[in-house]
Amino acid sequence: MMTITPIEVTVREITRGYINNDEQGVRGYDGRLDIRPPYQREFIYNDREQQAVINTVLNGYPLNVMYWVHRSEDADCPFEVMDGQQRTLALCEYVAGKFSFEFKNFFNQPADIQQKILNYRLTVYVCEGEASEKLEWFRIINIAGKPLYEQEINNAIYAGPFVSDAKRYFSKLNCAAYRLGKDLVTGEVKRQDFLRKALEWIAQHETRQGHPQTIVGYMAAHQHDPNANNLWTYFQQVLNWAITNFDLKRFRKIMKGLNWAEYYDRFSAVTLDTSALAEQISSLMRDSEVQKPTGIIPYVLTGDEHHLQLRAFPEDIKLAVWERQKHRCLLCGKEFDFEFMEGDHITPWREGGRTVMENCQMLCRECNRRKGSK
Ligand SMILES: [Zn+2]
Repeated sequence: MMTITPIEVTVREITRGYINNDEQGVRGYDGRLDIRPPYQREFIYNDREQQAVINTVLNGYPLNVMYWVHRSEDADCPFEVMDGQQRTLALCEYVAGKFSFEFKNFFNQPADIQQKILNYRLTVYVCEGEASEKLEWFRIINIAGKPLYEQEINNAIYAGPFVSDAKRYFSKLNCAAYRLGKDLVTGEVKRQDFLRKALEWIAQHETRQGHPQTIVGYMAAHQHDPNANNLWTYFQQVLNWAITNFDLKRFRKIMKGLNWAEYYDRFSAVTLDTSALAEQISSLMRDSEVQKPTGIIPYVLTGDEHHLQLRAFPEDIKLAVWERQKHRCLLCGKEFDFEFMEGDHITPWREGGRTVMENCQMLCRECNRRKGSK
């Protein structure tokens, strides 16, 4: 039986006693962590990812969960890295001064930044089990998508009446959540995608209400609840609101995968004019300027054109117009190289302007920004 225990480890702890040589192998965590166990020897160093790890830590963003295997407490080296070798090595090598990030190695950083790095907390899932299981898990982690794996781990860690009840609604073949949401939620029930989506939605819902929450935080807070009624109720409310206000028969293609909880929270208190919205949606679906059909419903609700990914002028039109304008910005009249200019719609899309040469003018970046913010 595999058991999983989440722990927190600081960069200070994981990099303490770091060694990396042929005789002793690669170790950290005071010599107690085997960073490069035998089945991971194929590891290839990647400079770009190494830099990304340091960037993440310096900004205080979270790194993905790492997985360790607990061999046994009396083993010479009780822990080994099952997943997260690259991140661990990047941290150890950086703190050892072996490479630089933005021209600064660890020892060139001011003391407070050094402390910030050392105090950064990593989330580690420590797995304990048979060797045969270990390899199987390593295979799953490396082959399957991370999100699927993580939700299954979460279910194991926060096992209890809440998870059991939630799985009844969200994780069984042809379950109630699937029957209600198959046209609105992407993913597969058996991969826990529906359960993960429901948890993500309710966590975001609580966050919007001023109580910052995460999937894992929500599961921990409700682990011992006698059932998952609140989760199931909220999920139903969200999807019923979506189905009631938008015609699945007509708009099925563009309704799947939207963040319905966000729109439910924002708009369920008002009564939408659904037939006017349906007409607007239909005409947008025929509009060739719209390049992202799944942004149509978000757009009609929020009015934010970014959702639509409206067509931009292609290079050949921009070049021709730039020549026609004798390389001058039409607003400030100054001359610019081509790469410092942007194609602008003279008549904007919302007033019927199309992405054609006659509707294109070239502006310098500054003028274009100023025009855009008006
Ligand atoms: Zn200008």
